[in-house]
Amino acid sequence: MVAMAYGRPCAVAVDPMEKKPLYHFLPGRPVLSLGMAGCNLRCRNCQNADISQRSPEEIPAYRLSPDEVVALAVKEHLPAIAYTYTEPLVAFEYVLDCAKAARAAGVANVLVSAGYVNPGPLEELLPFVDAANIDLKTMDPGGYRENCGVELAPVLATLKAMARTSTVLEVTNLVIPGFNDSDALLEAWCGFVAEELGVDIPVHFSRFFPCHRLTDRQATPVGTLARAKAIARKHGLRYVYAGNVQEEETTACPACGAVLVERRGFDVGANRLRDGRCFACGQAIYGRF
Ligand SMILES: [Zn+2]
Repeated sequence: MVAMAYGRPCAVAVDPMEKKPLYHFLPGRPVLSLGMAGCNLRCRNCQNADISQRSPEEIPAYRLSPDEVVALAVKEHLPAIAYTYTEPLVAFEYVLDCAKAARAAGVANVLVSAGYVNPGPLEELLPFVDAANIDLKTMDPGGYRENCGVELAPVLATLKAMARTSTVLEVTNLVIPGFNDSDALLEAWCGFVAEELGVDIPVHFSRFFPCHRLTDRQATPVGTLARAKAIARKHGLRYVYAGNVQEEETTACPACGAVLVERRGFDVGANRLRDGRCFACGQAIYGRF
């Protein structure tokens, strides 16, 4: 067995942390972002199909050893490295080695993943992951099979395992009309996050735009995202955001309502946290700021 994507990221860029999206981890900071060709899902709506649905032999890539990746982050004064754009866990050996080297150099690791992984490798990698955004695409196992070609249960197991660690976890729901936008599925989704992961876990409802093989429907109406957010708040979730919309998204203190972080799109305005707490009432806020 040879790991073809080892040391061969096909996408290397510097992004704002908010683009991952992570709202409760180093807000407003730039992050070195790497993507390796390939994915273990086959989502019909993939936004990055040109790199995720290809194998490493098929597309051009850079040559960057784990030490070179970390040296690049240090040289550019980037506080974190994100493994993102495709499914980083299919380049597991490379991501693990990069994450270990980054940790040793004081650079944080960010995982953006669909969470479809066996418990063993997850357990091996998690101690080096400082923050993660995991997609939970729907609570309907049939929907996972039909739209993504995989099972739901392992994704739920990944989320539960991550919520038990000190990794800062955020969860994304790409809301697709006619796929996962019913009240019943949104209720089930929010219920799972609130009850199994915790009401402090930030959630992102992202707007879908037609792409790849899912072009038979319109972009998600903005009103649908507002409905999803209302359902999430009803379930007691404390940090609820809309994504892929150019709207202001503030992080407010769940205790006193003070606005702690102001954002517009990927731009962060004010950050009024003091040592991870609300400046006004001292409430501890989930994440690392
Ligand atoms: Zn407060």
